[in-house]
Amino acid sequence: MTEFDLIDYFFKSIPHRRDDVCIGIGDDAACLSIKPGHQLVVTTDTLVAGSHFLTTWDAFDIAYKAVMVNISDIAAMAAEPAWLSLALTLPDADEAWLNRFSQGLSAAFSQYHLALIGGDMTRGPMTLTITLHGMIPEGKSVQRQGAQPGDKIYVTGPLGGAAQAVAFLDKQDIDKSHQTTLMNKLLRPQPRVDMQMILRTYATAAIDISDGLSSDLNHICEMSGVGACLKLDNIPLHPLVNQYQQDNAIAFALKGGDDYELCFSVAKANENRMLNALYDAGITCYLIGEIEAQKGLRGQKSCGQVSSIPIDGYRHF
Ligand code: ADP
Ligand code: MG
Repeated sequence: MTEFDLIDYFFKSIPHRRDDVCIGIGDDAACLSIKPGHQLVVTTDTLVAGSHFLTTWDAFDIAYKAVMVNISDIAAMAAEPAWLSLALTLPDADEAWLNRFSQGLSAAFSQYHLALIGGDMTRGPMTLTITLHGMIPEGKSVQRQGAQPGDKIYVTGPLGGAAQAVAFLDKQDIDKSHQTTLMNKLLRPQPRVDMQMILRTYATAAIDISDGLSSDLNHICEMSGVGACLKLDNIPLHPLVNQYQQDNAIAFALKGGDDYELCFSVAKANENRMLNALYDAGITCYLIGEIEAQKGLRGQKSCGQVSSIPIDGYRHF
């Protein structure tokens, strides 16, 4: 197959469409209609073989995860994901691989009503770059800046599962069902698009946890010109992280990335209203600490002792 046959066969054929795509795959550029009163929200993430995924993984999982990682950034802005373009670099045109890859895209698109609007294909070491476009009513996006001293800090779910999966990648002697559960956390993250309305209404700042809670919460703090104190025992942990990391579980979860839960702050005056809205929506979030005027991250143990938290998450450079 030629490059154009591959695009038609594996990408243009993906059945998920949106009415707001005026010109999609096949022309020099895509053309999209934005809902009146909305703003465009755009994010790009690249996944590199060996660094973000292993070439031994099922191509379905690679595609699915790449889409979810991008959706998570849109979710952290409280926006709604819509249109996606894909730049794919492959060492060769392995049709079986492309077939699984295209199925993984398709599964992700149907889950979040996304349309593929274009992309690029090149030969080289395996890399995929996705640009995802979303929409949000004008002025409603939630940023990393905006957290104020006294705001309460919440996370949307248990942490550390994906990092535990990575820690077990080349271990053979792990309980099979545990390994499956953890790999599912790593390969099939579920970005928190369900938090959209709550964030728009109540959050003063938000971020998705891609590099690790300490590193990502630190971004909120730096952008907002504040610090934070976490109640360490309140940080929700994946049960298997507790089991395998034991006394190190909290420290492990603080720097473990790839969970794609959200961390956000809410003004104390709005906290009860937010908790009611969460209850009505059937969503559980976890109170983990408070924004403080003093810069830096601190952690408080149940005995009351406070110490500073090292900011270390995943960094490429
Ligand atoms: P150009 O040379 O004008 O950049 P290309 O030959 O790269 O165009 O691509 C032809 C069409 O196919 C374009 O509409 C482009 O967006 C689309 N396309 C290319 N690669 C992909 C891909 N991996 N997935 C989806 N669409 C793609
Ligand atoms: Mg091109």
